[in-house]
Amino acid sequence: AELEVVDGAVEAAEISVERLRKGGGHKFDHGHALVLAGGAGRGGAARLAAYGALRVGAGLVTVGCPAEALGENAARLDAVMLRVIEDGVALREALVDRRIRALCMGPGLGVERAAGMLGAVGGDHPPYAVLDADALTALTTVPFPAALRGRAVLTPHSGEFARVWPDLAGVASKVEAVRAAAARVGAVVLLKGADTLVAHPDGRCVLHSARGAMAAPWLATAGSGDVLAGIITGLLARGWSPFEAAETGAWLHAAAARRFGAGLIAEDLPEALPGVFRDLG
Ligand code: AMP
Ligand code: MG
Repeated sequence: AELEVVDGAVEAAEISVERLRKGGGHKFDHGHALVLAGGAGRGGAARLAAYGALRVGAGLVTVGCPAEALGENAARLDAVMLRVIEDGVALREALVDRRIRALCMGPGLGVERAAGMLGAVGGDHPPYAVLDADALTALTTVPFPAALRGRAVLTPHSGEFARVWPDLAGVASKVEAVRAAAARVGAVVLLKGADTLVAHPDGRCVLHSARGAMAAPWLATAGSGDVLAGIITGLLARGWSPFEAAETGAWLHAAAARRFGAGLIAEDLPEALPGVFRDLG
């Protein structure tokens, strides 16, 4: 498969964003995303992800967190629902609600909790899922859930990539490494960095180069990856395929950074998204 370079591919994004802006429908038609969060003092990453999901138009976003973190999350989230989900058992119960279409697993979740929850994703109607941060580290101790084959986007940075696939980290071509990783898990792998690669298990691979874009280095800031995970989760909740969600998510994330400019912190990314949509017409 050929490597398609989509840096600044406004046309492709316009088509995707046009679909995003198509209004109408009940909020449930726009998908329900469940962002899993960790304990007290660890919720920031999941909250950033939750706002990323909302800003790309997920109809409903629930943050699932341990009881001890309810107060903190309630004080800091308005547009988001809260539910106590402490472990895999509680997650399985929550997933009985089939309207939950996409999960965000990893940011701020804690590695042990993530491992327990990965084991709980399955059944007849598995959700779509983004695995990031602690959920990636958890893959060093628990297997990638078979139920998520074809349904997941894994979003490692280079350090997480090396942790999950130590043998692939040394491969000279990043493109070949990320393709091999995607083929192994049977899911989309998005390798983050100044250049972001998105690989489909069938060999398709797309490069988003943020090089040369003035504001993009400001993306190298705490929490920015968590927002990306949330954006992709939101697009999955809206019914997009994992590859489309990852590709467009990476584009929107960088576009938000470019639009905000210097001084960007992670909180600014979800808030810059409406401006990105406006710019596209
Ligand atoms: P994380 O490492 O999880 O915090 O994610 C960082 C995010 O920032 C990813 O989306 C990266 O692709 C992006 N990023 C990191 N460094 C740069 C850079 N120098 N230029 C552009 N984007 C970057
Ligand atoms: Mg991260």
